[in-house]
Amino acid sequence: MTVTNNEAALEFLQRKPSLLINNQWVSSKGGTIAVINPATEEKISEIVDATDEDVELAVAAAREAFDTGEWGRTPAGERERLLHRLADLIDENRAELAELEYLDNGKPRKFFFNGDVPGAARNFRYFAGWATKIYGMTAESSYSPDHHVYTRKEPVGVAGMITPWNVPIAMAAWKLAPALAAGCACILKPAEETSLSALRLGELIVEAGFPPGAVNIITGEGASSGAAITAHESVDKIAFTGSTRVGKLIVQAATGNLKKVSLELGGKSPTLVFPDANLKKAIPACAMSIFMNSGQICAAGSRLYVHEKVFDEVISGIVEFAAKLKVGAGDDPDSVMGPLVNKTQLNTVSGYVDLGREEGAEVAVGGNRPFDRGYFYSPTVIVDANDKMRVTREEIFGPVLVAQPFADTDEAIARANDSDYGLFARAWTQDVSLAHTLAARFRAGNVHINGGTPPDPNIPFGGYKQSGWGRELGREGLDLYLQTKSVLVSL
Ligand code: NAD
Repeated sequence: MTVTNNEAALEFLQRKPSLLINNQWVSSKGGTIAVINPATEEKISEIVDATDEDVELAVAAAREAFDTGEWGRTPAGERERLLHRLADLIDENRAELAELEYLDNGKPRKFFFNGDVPGAARNFRYFAGWATKIYGMTAESSYSPDHHVYTRKEPVGVAGMITPWNVPIAMAAWKLAPALAAGCACILKPAEETSLSALRLGELIVEAGFPPGAVNIITGEGASSGAAITAHESVDKIAFTGSTRVGKLIVQAATGNLKKVSLELGGKSPTLVFPDANLKKAIPACAMSIFMNSGQICAAGSRLYVHEKVFDEVISGIVEFAAKLKVGAGDDPDSVMGPLVNKTQLNTVSGYVDLGREEGAEVAVGGNRPFDRGYFYSPTVIVDANDKMRVTREEIFGPVLVAQPFADTDEAIARANDSDYGLFARAWTQDVSLAHTLAARFRAGNVHINGGTPPDPNIPFGGYKQSGWGRELGREGLDLYLQTKSVLVSL
C-alpha cells in the first residue's frame, strides 16, 4: 500500500533513524520505536529510542554550545535572522511537514497544512522579533548615589523541552522559538508517538544555519530519555507539555539541581451557555471545541453547562452536528475528525465512555468505533451525568462531551470552577456585564467569550491549578527562558 504520494515525505520516512546532536545526524546504540499511521494501524517508519549515553552527548553538545561555543556568542540580531530563516523554510516545506504530521498523528492533513504548520512558522517569526528586544533596566541605589545599578536579562542556559503527541510541530515551536530568541541551547524530546515533524524541523534548523549544539533532538520513550533529560544536572531548565501525571514526575526529577520548570498540563475545561447566547454560533463552536483533533486538545471544551431554558435545543443541535461530522482518514479532504493517536488512547477513551454508562450517564450520540480498522472513535455526547462522575472530572482526551443543565449564574460558575484543572473556560452570552463578570470569576488561565481564535503567539497561554506553571507565548513565554542579573558598580 502506498503510504504517501508526497515524494519528499516518502523519502523522509525511509531515512535511517537518527538523532540530531551538535548539528550531526547520529545513530544510536539504542533500539527503535515503530511509527504507526493511526488511520491504518500500519508501520510507516522508525525512530530511535535514545539511550542515556545519547542524552549525555546531547546535553554535552548543548552545554558546550551555550558555555563556550558559537551559539553562546551569537548576537541578538543574528538570532533574529536565523529564526526568520527557519520560519521561511517551514513555509517552503509546508506540504511535506503537513504530510508527515497527519501520517504520524492522524488529524486531517488540511488542518496541519492550513493551521499547525503555518502557525509554527508564525511562532518563529513572532519570537524572532523578541530576540532584539530583550532589555534590562537601570535603577537608583537606595543606599548610595555613587553606584551605577542595572539589570541584565540573560538566557537561562541549557533548556530541555519535552512535548506531547497531540499537536507536535506546534508544541516544538512554542518552546524552541522563545528559547532560541533568548539565546538558550536546546534539547528537544518530542513524544515517542509523533516525532517525525520534530526530526524534519531539525533538518530545517541545520539548513537555516543555526550553529552546532544550539538545537539537539533526542527521540525516545518518556520514562527513559525524557526522564534522563529532566534529571540531568547540566540542564538548567525544563519546559514540559503533557499530562498532569508526568508533570508531577518532572517537578520531582527537577529537584536534583533545582532547575527551572515550566509546565503546560491537562485540562477539563468548562463552557457555559446562557439563554441569551447566539445559539447558531454557539452550537457548532461548542461541538468543535471538543471534536477538533478528536478531542486531543488540552484546552478542549469537554464539560458543557447549558442553561435549562435552552438545554434541549443546544444538546439536540450538538447531537445533530456530531452525527453529521465526517470522521475519516486525514488524506480525505472532507474528513473533519481523524483517528485517535494510538490504540492505548482509543482504549482509554472507550473505557471512559463505558465507565460513564456504568455510572448511570446516557450516551446521546456516538460512544462507538465507527470503523474496524484505525483508532477512530465517534464524536460522543454524554448527558444525564453529574458533577461527581469520573467522566465529568477527569481528562478523557478524546471526542467526548459531558453536557449538563444549570439553573442560575452563581451555580454555573461554581460548577465550572469545581475542577482540579484550570486551563481554559468559555462562555456564550450577549450580556456584556455578565461576560466580563465571568471572565473575572473563572479560575482558568484562558477565557474565551463568544468564540476565539487559534492560539496566538502574542497572547500568553497556560493554566491555573493543576493545569500548569508559567505561561508560554507572548512576552511571558520569552521570560521563561531568561533570568535577571542585578549589577552594582561602585563609581
Ligand atoms: P504525556 O505526559 O504522557 O507525555 C508527554 C511527554 O512527556 C512525551 O514526550 C513523553 O515521552 C514524556 N514523558 C513521559 N514520561 C516521562 C517522564 N517520566 N519523564 C520525562 N518525560 C516523560 O502526555 P501525552 O499523553 O503525550 O499528551 C497528552 C497530555 O498533554 C494531556 O494531558 C494534555 O492535556 C496535555 N497537553 C497540554 C497542553 C497545554 O498546553 N497545556 C498542550 C498539549 C497537551
